[in-house]
Amino acid sequence: MSAVAEAVAIAPETSEFLARDHKLFINGQWVDAHSREKHAVYDPATEAQIATFDIADETDVDMAVAAARKAFKGEWSKISSHERSIMMMRLADEIDANLQTLAEIEVMDNGLPMALAKYTISGHAANFVRYYAGWPTKILGDTIPVSPMGVPNGESLTYTKREPIGVVGAIIPWNAPIAMFVLKLAPALAAGCTMVIKPAELTPLIALKLCDLIKKAGIPDGVVNVIPGAGRVAGAAMATHPDIDKISFTGSTEVGQRIVQSCLGNLKKVTLELGGKSPVVVFPDADIEAVKVGAIRAAFFLQGQNCMAGTRLFVHQDVFDEVIQGVAAIANAMKIGPGLDPNNDLGPLISADQREVVMSYIQAGKDEGAELICGGEALPGKGHFVQPTIFTHPHQDIKIAREEIFGPVLFAQPFSDSDLEAIAAEANKSIYGLSGSVWTKDISVGLKMASLIDSGQVSINCHAAVDPAIPFGGNKMSGWGREFGKEGLEPYLKTKSTTVIF
Ligand code: NAD
Repeated sequence: MSAVAEAVAIAPETSEFLARDHKLFINGQWVDAHSREKHAVYDPATEAQIATFDIADETDVDMAVAAARKAFKGEWSKISSHERSIMMMRLADEIDANLQTLAEIEVMDNGLPMALAKYTISGHAANFVRYYAGWPTKILGDTIPVSPMGVPNGESLTYTKREPIGVVGAIIPWNAPIAMFVLKLAPALAAGCTMVIKPAELTPLIALKLCDLIKKAGIPDGVVNVIPGAGRVAGAAMATHPDIDKISFTGSTEVGQRIVQSCLGNLKKVTLELGGKSPVVVFPDADIEAVKVGAIRAAFFLQGQNCMAGTRLFVHQDVFDEVIQGVAAIANAMKIGPGLDPNNDLGPLISADQREVVMSYIQAGKDEGAELICGGEALPGKGHFVQPTIFTHPHQDIKIAREEIFGPVLFAQPFSDSDLEAIAAEANKSIYGLSGSVWTKDISVGLKMASLIDSGQVSINCHAAVDPAIPFGGNKMSGWGREFGKEGLEPYLKTKSTTVIF
């Protein structure tokens, strides 16, 4: 057992996995990176090095794409839709069966608390794969009742077929590694595509562990290729690659824009899940106790490194002090520390760089005159920990209200208006439009506000209701397209129309 495993009492399987010589997963084999360059993985809670991995460059991208293309044209295309479902079900079962090890890897790689890691694996990842495993036999075309080319009615047949789009390049971020991996994998496999997946260079481990399970589930070699690599090298090579048919990207708006430009070369299809700065709107009749807990979850889930985070809290002035004091009391009581300790509620940020970014926003909040209600400090010692932080201010013309911070910083503002359009205008004062929530017992107010908020997803009396069947995605600069649900399959399919004259 490694020193790391002994110190934190992780399972022997986890120690064995961390100690491996992690290579690239191409064509079902572990292969050395072309450059032979290795990068280190650090536990953000302890700053200890926990693993090393091979980092992919442009040559490795070429190899992975070639493997995915070969599998797409070959064995995978001959496998029946029933069999695809069964393989995906087996993968979901493997994810459940490996819960403890997957959770420990995720916690040590990303920093999130253990209970959340287990939820993202069993509650989300396995079920997400299971949901899409139901789709392969239900991807239907149409018959079209026309008589083209002037042929008499009844002497022709026109039908459409939904075909897999081809080789998919998936580029994913570090904030929820397993969730992001399956978000791309499951609909792509259901549609019959093959893939090259590039995990974020900060969190490659769970993707590499999932390769073991993909193999065990019987998914043929070359269907899923996993190549951890730097964004500007491997990610950029994928975006410009002439033999990738589609890029599915989750990450920052800035990189998303760059990817769109890079994809112009072969006009590959692109879906983008980008940043957010979502509003949480609280009316005075809301269940205030539920609001307090809901606002905490909305803002500080994954230490606020969450695209759906509700980081702009608008509260009616009649209940503003009660809500803010209640939210601050919960925030102050949160236990901050390594995610492997099940008593901790909040883990570290992903890196020292990310902590620096977050601390610079906290400083900006102070400098621009926002009132600091709680938190505001990084914890001394090892680990990139930052206290859950709440600022209040009467308007949004300050940086911390406008920009995505991607850390545990909540901006709160009172409102006195009773005009829903005016409240919604304030909630919509953002370049983003990903998520949002409304808290009220008056369902007509809730529904009206939900329709006025310009986001891809709005929840009433909860925040960010997530289920594999509920479409999710961004308006405005939060993205292109939708993931989850039936809509989440569409970007992995293309339509072919066929007409036969009898
Ligand atoms: P990022 O954009 O820096 O990186 C995301 C991925 O893109 C990584 O794999 C990275 O290596 C790669 N990349 C970076 N530069 C690239 C380039 N030039 N070409 C190709 N690939 C490149 O984002 P991040 O810091 O990893 O994640 C945080 C961001 O992700 C936040 O803005 C957050 O809101 C967003 N996010 C969005 C969602 C969503 O579903 N909408 C979910 C999670 C995270």
